[in-house]
Amino acid sequence: MNKSIKLSFYGGVEEVGRSCYLIEKGDKNIVLDCGIKLGEKVEHPEIPKDKIKSIKEIIISHAHLDHSGYLPHLYSDGYSPKIIATKPTRDLMGVLLSDYRRIQKEPAFSQKDVDECMKRVYMTEYGSIKSQFEYTLFQAGHIIGSSMIRIEESGGILYTGDICMRNTRVLEGCKRGVNAENLIVESTYGSKEDILPGIKEEAGRMIELINKTLKEGGSVLIPSFAVGRAQEILLLLDDYMQSGALTKVPIYVDGMINKVMRIYRHNAIYANEDIKRKILMSDYDPFNSKNFKKPKTKDRSDVLQEPCIIVSTSGMLSGGPALYYLEKLAPDPKNMLLFVGYQAEGTRGKKILDGEKEIELGENKVKMNMKIESIKISGHADYREIVQFIHGVKGLKKVFIVHGESKDLGEELEKKYEVIFPKRGEEFVI
Ligand SMILES: [Zn+2]
Ligand SMILES: [Zn+2]
Repeated sequence: MNKSIKLSFYGGVEEVGRSCYLIEKGDKNIVLDCGIKLGEKVEHPEIPKDKIKSIKEIIISHAHLDHSGYLPHLYSDGYSPKIIATKPTRDLMGVLLSDYRRIQKEPAFSQKDVDECMKRVYMTEYGSIKSQFEYTLFQAGHIIGSSMIRIEESGGILYTGDICMRNTRVLEGCKRGVNAENLIVESTYGSKEDILPGIKEEAGRMIELINKTLKEGGSVLIPSFAVGRAQEILLLLDDYMQSGALTKVPIYVDGMINKVMRIYRHNAIYANEDIKRKILMSDYDPFNSKNFKKPKTKDRSDVLQEPCIIVSTSGMLSGGPALYYLEKLAPDPKNMLLFVGYQAEGTRGKKILDGEKEIELGENKVKMNMKIESIKISGHADYREIVQFIHGVKGLKKVFIVHGESKDLGEELEKKYEVIFPKRGEEFVI
């Protein structure tokens, strides 16, 4: 007898954060991603208790906490499902989950729970795999090791995770033209006005801004997320510096980024051909370039002795060494703060971007006299690219739109497909 497939949405719908979707067939089940939503408070996916108990396997599309952060919570609650991920995803999760525990005022789980989680990860490659279900992993182009997942049921159920269509410094764009009747697609940039400029133009603008600041004797602070964005930005800066287009000054790398750079290096086989060739055929290692420096002293006093570029966590200036540099650099109008990533509502980064002239850093109030700039280089597909990606899926009938809140995609796609914006807790039989 042909058992039907049930698809349930527990988070990551009408929002970015806590992605979590369950696929069931008879007594078989698999969860796609298991994330949290980080904001003023941490929000969890809303999985019913009786379902949590029965979860057998969880497959993680990529390491970002909005896709993996709920795993140690499950372990601390006494559940121990098998976890499936690529090697880079496993390595990066180890760092990100430990850091997530560290930043909680009252951690909801222990480092032992993180370690237990890591032990339960079954590592897999891109390509076809069989567990309870048959499924195939495809390159997603978003961060190293990121995957799209197709479950080979009901004519194919393709889950994109987070995708990037463009080739970037580190990665090739996501796989296109996959066969699937059903699609669960991310829509971070799902509004019609979400059109990103080309990487080349935006990188050119960034280099110009930095050169100008350095020429005037100022330094540049680039707050960045540790995984994905930091590597793209650092390799870009290094390339431009090698070619002579970017003024030669030290590029200081501080915070968790250094650990993540090592993981990228260890997993370079997952990077694009250009990087693999450089590593294999020359002495040059793009993840450990001579242009990158680490602070030599604990108090970082060696860093700001001369004009320089600093790339440091955290990306939204909510913590991390970036705050130390911000305090030092903010009062002088010669310096520049350059945002390279999204700034969420309520964060210090967003307040600065909105023009606040004085900010609180711990006990101190700091005058924001430095220049503030922002460039748009993203690890996600923009509106046009999502539409293009969806039209490229072969045999597509049903589209579930997740990981975003815009309804614009509906209008564009309804003529051709059945388009669904699931609500949290909703179930569908497909
Ligand atoms: Zn992501
Ligand atoms: Zn995400």
